[in-house]
Formats: sequence, structure tokens, C-alpha cells
Amino acid sequence: MAEKYDEKFMKRAIELSREASIEKKTGGVFGAVIVKDGKIIGEGYNQVLATHDPTWHAEMQAIREATKKLGTPHLDGCVLYTSAECCPMCLATAYWAHIDHIYYGATIDDAFKYGNFADVDILDEIRKDAKQRKIKFTEKMRPEAVEVWKEFAEMPDRAHY
Ligand SMILES: [Zn+2]
Repeated sequence: MAEKYDEKFMKRAIELSREASIEKKTGGVFGAVIVKDGKIIGEGYNQVLATHDPTWHAEMQAIREATKKLGTPHLDGCVLYTSAECCPMCLATAYWAHIDHIYYGATIDDAFKYGNFADVDILDEIRKDAKQRKIKFTEKMRPEAVEVWKEFAEMPDRAHY
């Protein structure tokens, strides 16, 4: 069953963004919830500053909480409500998690205008050819690395996902 948009969930995501940025001061203006069958199964708010963890985005926390609750890495049939448009990491994570639909409040442009969050630069970097990126990305020891892949491919009980 596809989830219909429900304003109360967006309000909760925005409330969590206030908690993160203004009340608890744990990080930026970001809050998120995951909804399944009309119920919140995961919540998160930005805690990058409080935890010194650059990946502690609201969406990441909400997704982790939801997948843990459901006992699977996949959230098919779930909807993500986020107070601001996802950064590239959280968007990629939403794909890994099989999220069906994302509702967002503020845009990436708003986050840049009011908070100097430069997600746009990361998107530009990702679109570039690997050799043109700021972070150097160099292939080394491929045969040794692929040995493990070969072993994995032949395991009868290997993980499938
Ligand atoms: Zn993010």
C-alpha cells in the first residue's frame, strides 16, 4: 500500500530539525521520520556536532532506527519525511534502503542560503569524471581485492541483497 502524504509527519520532521539546531544544538537544521502503514517507525535529527560524526544526518538516524525495528536493511513501502532536501549521502542511503517516496521541506538552496550547507558542491563533484574530483581516487591491488570477490561468488551460502 502506498503511503499518502500526511502533514503531521512533516510537522514532526520540522520539529526535530528545531530540536537539533536551536534547542539541543547538536547539529544543523535537519530532522526526519520514516513512516510505514501510517506510523512512525524511525526518527532522527542532525547530531554531527554533538557526536563528531559527519554521517550523523537526520535521515541516516531515522533509516537506521527503522531498519533495526523491522529487522531488515530494506524499507520497501516506507516513506521518508525530511525537513530539508536530502544530501547526496542520504539520498544514496534512501536508494540502498528501498525507500519509495521522499517528502522534503526546505530545499538544498535554502540550506545553502541560510546555513551555508554546500551540498551542491558534492553533487557537482560526484558528476565529474573520477580523475577531475577534489578527492583523489586511485585503483590499487585490484587482483588481491578481486580474489576475495571470487571466493565470495563461489560460496553456496553467500549473502544476497
Ligand atoms: Zn544527509
